[in-house]
Amino acid sequence: MRPAVFLDRDGTINEQLGYINHISRFILLPGVGKAISLLNRNKHIVVVTSNQSGVARGYFPIELVEETNDLMKKELAKDNAYVDAIYFCPHHPDGVLPEYRMECNCRKPDIGLIEKARSELDIDMQRSYVIGDRWLDIEFAHNANLPSILVLTGYGKGDLEYIVPHKKIKPTFVAEDLSRAVRWILKGNK
Ligand SMILES: [Mg+2]
Ligand SMILES: [Zn+2]
Repeated sequence: MRPAVFLDRDGTINEQLGYINHISRFILLPGVGKAISLLNRNKHIVVVTSNQSGVARGYFPIELVEETNDLMKKELAKDNAYVDAIYFCPHHPDGVLPEYRMECNCRKPDIGLIEKARSELDIDMQRSYVIGDRWLDIEFAHNANLPSILVLTGYGKGDLEYIVPHKKIKPTFVAEDLSRAVRWILKGNK
């Protein structure tokens, strides 16, 4: 069994530009390809876990999420990096599209996406981590009993300054960006 790193997408892998409602809005953050290739070479399973409620809200079709994920894979391949799996939640309880309007269990911070990954991949949960740029990712990690790293890209700085102080649950580590987060994991939390 290998450990997994559950990575948020928007704001962690690519720039946070609100809803990625067009492929042109996908811009890889600096150093992300190299950071993910480091995880690949160190035998970590890289799993993307992402809320994409814009689908339920009717802002963009589900095909765009797939198209954007394909672009992400292409961009990562430039650094010989790859993700082992991508899971996303297209739902929202207030969605306008009936097929996606629901109280699901896969919208972070609920842990449906991690449960799905566990059922499909051979993951050593004892050595796994969650990395994301939002408070919600920290809650997601906590709900799955995993350590969390808050990155200060995307919404990270704002959530660290304005949300984390009011919460009991804290990120296990705060990292400038994904590169730093990955190095912290691989160096045994140093
Ligand atoms: Mg995010
Ligand atoms: Zn869902």
